[in-house]
Amino acid sequence: MVSVPMPPSQLLIDGEWIGSSDGATIEVVAPATGESLGRIAAATVGDVDAAVRAARAQFDHGEWSKTSGADRGKLLWRLADLVEADLERLSTLEAVDVGRPFGEAFYAEIPLVVDVLRHFAGWADKLTGSTFTLPPFGGEDRFSYTVRQPLGVVAAITPWNAPTMITSWKLAPALAAGNTIVIKPAPDASLTTLRLGELIIEAGFPAGVVNIVTGSGTDAGAALTQHPGVDKISFTGSTSVGRQIAATAAASLKKVTLELGGKSPQIIWPDADLEKAAPVAALSIFANQGQTCASASRIYVHRSVLDDFVNLLKIEAESRVLGDPLDAETTMGSLINPAQLERVLGYIASAREEGAQLITGGGCVEGPGLFVEPTIFVGGNELTVAREEIFGPVGTVIPFDDDDEVLALANDNAYGLTAVLWTNNASRIGRFTREIHAGVVWVNAWGPPHPAVPWLGVKSSGIGEELGLEGLKANTRVKTVNVVSSHS
Ligand code: NAD
Repeated sequence: MVSVPMPPSQLLIDGEWIGSSDGATIEVVAPATGESLGRIAAATVGDVDAAVRAARAQFDHGEWSKTSGADRGKLLWRLADLVEADLERLSTLEAVDVGRPFGEAFYAEIPLVVDVLRHFAGWADKLTGSTFTLPPFGGEDRFSYTVRQPLGVVAAITPWNAPTMITSWKLAPALAAGNTIVIKPAPDASLTTLRLGELIIEAGFPAGVVNIVTGSGTDAGAALTQHPGVDKISFTGSTSVGRQIAATAAASLKKVTLELGGKSPQIIWPDADLEKAAPVAALSIFANQGQTCASASRIYVHRSVLDDFVNLLKIEAESRVLGDPLDAETTMGSLINPAQLERVLGYIASAREEGAQLITGGGCVEGPGLFVEPTIFVGGNELTVAREEIFGPVGTVIPFDDDDEVLALANDNAYGLTAVLWTNNASRIGRFTREIHAGVVWVNAWGPPHPAVPWLGVKSSGIGEELGLEGLKANTRVKTVNVVSSHS
């Protein structure tokens, strides 16, 4: 039995917790145990409309529209303090709801949420424009300047794999810049967003600045993206849904940020410190049961160190402890839902059928949880497991012989989210950081992003940036003012 107090199960609209207007609900299941944790509201089109109207009213003429940047910063800082004080409860909710080990949330994800809120709190009173002194024209002096303004209502749509962190990436810069927001979390992992809603009220944000509409993507999500009162859609999720959202946004010319899927390469050269690389590479493949967008599951290993590195990776994989996410010994938890289990097992079966060599894993552990063994294959770039995003604990090692070959192999993929380079050769680092298709490159490391550093994907991994100054500016628009004055 899960003993953590549950957050509200309703929608947060205009500062009030209210049920769905048609009474519809969605069951919340803890994936690691199959236990039902209760039900949450499934927002209707009308509920989404009410949430957008509340956000719109605050933005257009509410207290928020008159709140200074400094005061917005104070509110965000207060929220950061509340999240920090709530670390254990939020981490427990995340572990139970997502099925990931408690320690991942407690030591990495929720502390990063606190850092993100504080980072953007600091930006809230520092949004400035530029000035332009221009030569006179037609006998008149000219002077131009720009102001940076918020966009309006931001629709934030989030996935289930790291729900608290990704919500903070959208919430903090949107509010720092003066927008209001409607958040639609994933139906499989809404609990921490609902808990954040309670903390947002406690922090003192005016009612309607932050609204939360739980529900399905096809109903609540689609209603939100189509709503004429929304100015920007900030979406994190799969590439296929991202494409639909881009098409919806195009019809009404809404601004979009799309953070989508990935199939990230990591490259191991013979000069790398293999003992250091192996545990980090394993983390990148198996963290959150492989359900991370930045999972570096295409592992290109120079043929001269292939056997050594595969052996180190096998030891790492086999050291994983699968089990209850709340157990301190657990290092790998449960996949999110039965469909995801089927999907991952389908990919493992495809690798066997396509002739990949299984090094370790390949099976699943009998329920009630949805546990897949950490799995490593060796094979070629043409394998389905080497080409498609699996979102499960499956890595494919691919041997290579020279730099031109591995660069071509690494870039021969639809995605371009992250890449990891393991080498100490400066000219190689220079060439590969420049030429590899990725929005984010790690050199001799892999891990959570820092709030000051932009996060983005290229190719099928997305459009636009989150985090950093770029992530803040993505929640604003520039207005140009031209002032003309005559001499006399
Ligand atoms: P998903 O695309 O199925 O769902 C994401 C969100 O979109 C959910 O809230 C869902 O309810 C909603 N949604 C679904 N259909 C919709 C529609 N038609 N209109 C509006 N909203 C809709 O993704 P998921 O399975 O929840 O998450 C996994 C995916 O997210 C993976 O592909 C992963 O790589 C990606 N991801 C990317 C990043 C990144 O930073 N690039 C980070 C985390 C996850």
